[in-house]
Amino acid sequence: MSSSQAADSQTKSADQSADKKLQAMKNFAERYAQRTDTYFCVDPSVTAVVIEGLARNKEELGSPLCPCRHYEDKEAEVKATYWNCPCVPMRERKECHCMLFLTPDNEFAGDKQEIAIEEIKAVRDSMA
Ligand code: SF4
Repeated sequence: MSSSQAADSQTKSADQSADKKLQAMKNFAERYAQRTDTYFCVDPSVTAVVIEGLARNKEELGSPLCPCRHYEDKEAEVKATYWNCPCVPMRERKECHCMLFLTPDNEFAGDKQEIAIEEIKAVRDSMA
């Protein structure tokens, strides 16, 4: 195998690993919405951005740290666990400030607990 082929296959396996994390986070979000009787936003790009951010944090930090907040020290936040998704406000009060999980009475709640992986990949590709 030439070195460029080796580099290609390395890129491919990194892509596959990122795709797996994206798929895993999508599955988590769908299952968790069903379990908590919450719904995704009427605007699927909101859902896609949050899932992509969670997957990225999982990839980079090892935990799905909430992507909608600013942190001084991400590693310390991961250890503190409060903002690892599903965060404490969501678990205790169904409060998701990212608008990933919306209670049916929320004016931005749609009627879906599923999202197409293509939708999330499109967001990821637009951010690359
Ligand atoms: Fe997850 Fe909480 Fe962030 Fe919503 S606010 S995406 S439940 S960590």
